[in-house]
Amino acid sequence: MAIVGCLTAAAAGLVIGPVLRLLVVRLAVPSGEPWRRACPACDSPLRPARAALPVLSPAGRCIACQTRLGPPPLSVEVTAVVLLGLLAARVQPGLVLTAVCWLAVCVIPLAYIDAATHRLPDLLTGPAYAGTAAFLLAAAATGESWPRLGRGLLGGIAFAAFCLVLFLISPSGMGPGDVKLAASLGTALAWLGWGALIAGALAGFLLAACYGVTLLVRGRADRKTQVPFGPFMIAGTFLVLVIAGVG
Ligand SMILES: [Zn+2]
Repeated sequence: MAIVGCLTAAAAGLVIGPVLRLLVVRLAVPSGEPWRRACPACDSPLRPARAALPVLSPAGRCIACQTRLGPPPLSVEVTAVVLLGLLAARVQPGLVLTAVCWLAVCVIPLAYIDAATHRLPDLLTGPAYAGTAAFLLAAAATGESWPRLGRGLLGGIAFAAFCLVLFLISPSGMGPGDVKLAASLGTALAWLGWGALIAGALAGFLLAACYGVTLLVRGRADRKTQVPFGPFMIAGTFLVLVIAGVG
């Protein structure tokens, strides 16, 4: 039964992967620019003429001119398949699984967008929080415990407040997008427990620090180089959710 759930979730990742890639291509634009509507190379629209027509090939190339757009081929798709499959194996019951899968589907493109442009658009951080909170509310209303929901919501606020303080102290290290992202990641982590929230947050900071040090050692960065924090917060959160499991 568990294996069926994992395969179903992984299959959902396979279907949704190309949609997430298109989201990354459209939203990964420099600050102040409008969302990308057309292929930057050939100007053909990034919106299918008919619903069934793809605008990007499975290898992530523009169907019209074959220019590769967005992250490396299959990276977004494989991330979606692996993460949704792992979550299905480790998270119960169904509505809590739906909440964390919703969160994953929103934050996978955010990680790639932040890595490319140092931005975390509200267009995704907003739904990430609203959907996660709504599904956890539904889980609490249908038999899961209300205190867990209360702890989850409080945890989300606490993580966001912590990141807000860091942002106010050092605006170059963290952005307002990170604060909004922390609200949804913190909610999912604190549903699991306060220990999970601390572990997830710590894992994110450690991963970011390791990455920063690696860049420094290799001479690819100096002390002023900005490291996008979103991908590491997301990785830390899902590392803890998958390793600890929810249920
Ligand atoms: Zn093109």
